[in-house]
Amino acid sequence: MTTASPEETQALAAQIADRAAVFPFKGASVIALEGELGAGKTTLVQSIAKHLGVKEFIKSPTFVLMKQYKFKNQQLPVCNLYHLDCYRLRDEKDLETLGLKKIFDDKENLVLIEWSDRVQKILPLPHMTIHIDHIGENKRRIAIN
Ligand code: ADP
Ligand code: MG
Repeated sequence: MTTASPEETQALAAQIADRAAVFPFKGASVIALEGELGAGKTTLVQSIAKHLGVKEFIKSPTFVLMKQYKFKNQQLPVCNLYHLDCYRLRDEKDLETLGLKKIFDDKENLVLIEWSDRVQKILPLPHMTIHIDHIGENKRRIAIN
């Protein structure tokens, strides 16, 4: 689909959050985010987090690789949001120290990974892939698979 403003992308994020947080699979819900710098990956993560009830404002974790946010939502099986940004990584070997296996195995986790194409090999199946293309100043094409 196409959005014509950050606000439209935020509205779409709310719908994505509702679906992602009730993934009927045994492990974590994982969303892989692809797209160039400035595409809107972090904007999407911020909006998903806000919609789920994360109180903190999420900044891009470019220097810390991964950040965990807790939230409470009676209706959802999920209560931890993990935000990863793999922009500075060469490949998945750089993620070895994070203990991702355990995070991916836990149904209470929603894991959002920016620049996921750099660590494709470690993404558990199934996962959702969101690819954002910059097609105009405020226009973005957003493909969800
Ligand atoms: P990324 O994390 O992919 O590098 P960001 O989310 O940090 O991208 O930045 C996207 C920028 O593009 C923000 O400044 C946002 O306000 C702007 N923007 C303009 N139009 C849109 C849109 N339709 N959807 C999302 N972001 C948009
Ligand atoms: Mg970003």
